[in-house]
Amino acid sequence: MRILVVEDEPTLRAQLVQAVAEAGHTVESTGDGREAHYLGEVEDFDAVVLDLGLPSLDGLSMLRRWRAAERNMPVLILTARGAWQDKVAGIDAGADDYLAKPFHIEELLARLRALLRRRGEHASAEWQCGPIVLDTRAARVLVDGRPLQLTSHEFKLLALLMQRKGEVLSRTELSEHLYPQASERDSNTIEVFVGRLRKKLPAGSIETVRGLGYRLADAGA
Ligand code: CA
Repeated sequence: MRILVVEDEPTLRAQLVQAVAEAGHTVESTGDGREAHYLGEVEDFDAVVLDLGLPSLDGLSMLRRWRAAERNMPVLILTARGAWQDKVAGIDAGADDYLAKPFHIEELLARLRALLRRRGEHASAEWQCGPIVLDTRAARVLVDGRPLQLTSHEFKLLALLMQRKGEVLSRTELSEHLYPQASERDSNTIEVFVGRLRKKLPAGSIETVRGLGYRLADAGA
């Protein structure tokens, strides 16, 4: 895999480069914000390790620019110890994971492995159920080869039903999937979303299992 390491502190940068290279990856590294931004914009990396405090362009601005330009490689940010605001801002800017300094190199390598593994799973994730095809990487749904317009809630709902097609999913389960925050959950809204989704899909795609929940069925079978 090809990894970009962005860190302006020379000793730490050298340690990171060595560790990531010893883990079997090809490493590019820089301590300059603008140069890092340029590299991430024009070259392809499987993951980026990004320090936030950098000369010439800070890590958060860089990340926002990459994401705005649809550069979607996994990014692990390095934050100052105790700076929880940096973690929140980093995740909002599009970071996939974070690590607070000081950290053990082993932990960084473990998190990097997890990011690369998730990316690998996504790369081949195209799910099919009869005429419905869902491409998780492109977040796109086709029915009989034609693109289907879905809201983000409808997409998430369909993704879960497709991932577990044939299984009955309760309203509670669907609600937990759609709303990670318990305070926002309301199983009645699930009925509304299922109703809307059902209208967009081929007839018979979503079955109601009385008293239990919903199940995705192959409407073409
Ligand atoms: Ca720094």
